[in-house]
Amino acid sequence: MKARTAAIIAVPVLIAAVAGSLVLFWRVNRVRMKGAQGTTAAVISAPVPTPDRTEDVTVTPNATFGELLSGAGVSGADASGIYAAAKSVYDLANIRAGKVIVLRYAPDTGALKELVYPLNGDEELHVRREGGAWTAAKETIAYDVKVKTAKGTVTSSLYAAGLSQGLDERVIVGFADVFQWTVDFSQDVRAGDTFSVVYEERYRDGKYVMPGAILAAEYVNGGDAHRAYHFKDASGAEGYYDAKGASLRRMFLKAPVAFKYITSGFTTGARYVSAFHQFNKSHMAIDYAAAIGTPIRATADGTVAFAGWGGPYGNKITIRHNGTYSTNYCHQSRFAVKKGQHVVQGQLIGYVGTTGYSTGPHLHYEMVKNGVKINPLKEVFPGTDPVKETEMPTFQQTMDRWASQL
Ligand SMILES: [Zn+2]
Repeated sequence: MKARTAAIIAVPVLIAAVAGSLVLFWRVNRVRMKGAQGTTAAVISAPVPTPDRTEDVTVTPNATFGELLSGAGVSGADASGIYAAAKSVYDLANIRAGKVIVLRYAPDTGALKELVYPLNGDEELHVRREGGAWTAAKETIAYDVKVKTAKGTVTSSLYAAGLSQGLDERVIVGFADVFQWTVDFSQDVRAGDTFSVVYEERYRDGKYVMPGAILAAEYVNGGDAHRAYHFKDASGAEGYYDAKGASLRRMFLKAPVAFKYITSGFTTGARYVSAFHQFNKSHMAIDYAAAIGTPIRATADGTVAFAGWGGPYGNKITIRHNGTYSTNYCHQSRFAVKKGQHVVQGQLIGYVGTTGYSTGPHLHYEMVKNGVKINPLKEVFPGTDPVKETEMPTFQQTMDRWASQL
């Protein structure tokens, strides 16, 4: 592994090994460093080498890679050499405005030795001068990971409760996604509900970058505690499981609108909620208030049995899931799928609108079981794919690790 930044190179740490000899650990892998620290007998300061000089070049709209490098004083020969070397890994003609290209120069000669470009949250492109040539590689970003716990009580919405605890909104959305088969955060949330989440924060050079995985989560909804533990088994199967090792995944998602689009939280006495609570022959559905154009998702795998004008229902899609269940999505502004198409759970099928008999933008969502409209929030679906029996001891260890923090 190569040292990435000046900050990291500047912190060599000398560790006295148990055997008595001195071993020099360069702090290039902080995860390993943390492991080593447990056996550290003495930490002695060491000479600090001169760090590389780095220059950040922010990609501006409409600027080409060549223009940006030329503007940073890089020679045409180096720019084209880097471009050509990178091409098989990433086409630098596709750089995006707002991202930052890092140029690294050798401190002694001042020569450009490396270019780094972020590809996504997990990987970046490195183009290095090796010998006389440029070589490119896609590398996983070695974040410094901290595990954090946050807890809170819901007074208006999960979103507001999370923000009030200083949570990154991506953690709040991720938390809601963990329970997307369990809780409808636009309909089920009650004042006094509590949440607890153990999650990773990714740091780089001491600066917070983004959240990592959610490791464990708990949501107490109207007095019912739901717990989730992240687990990846030896075969690579990965998901969230309850304390008994049952998967949280279900045949149906609780809500046809993703949490990230539901900004209103729970609304006491609002017509959408109260309309549903008067579940009767005149309204056997759940209404989701959302802006026109809000994406609608299929709550379960199935086939589009109808996509057209449904009279009072406006633009309507029916998905047939199996011989027992189908779902209807009404008043849409436009469709994203066609009749006969197979869809998977969570797939975009259309957009919220106010077509047909509708007093304002909303999604009217119905679940039909054996030809009868039922309350989707009350229907219980069995879990799928529990943790394998042979994996249970490992799962138990994972769970023990986080359970006390929830
Ligand atoms: Zn309705």
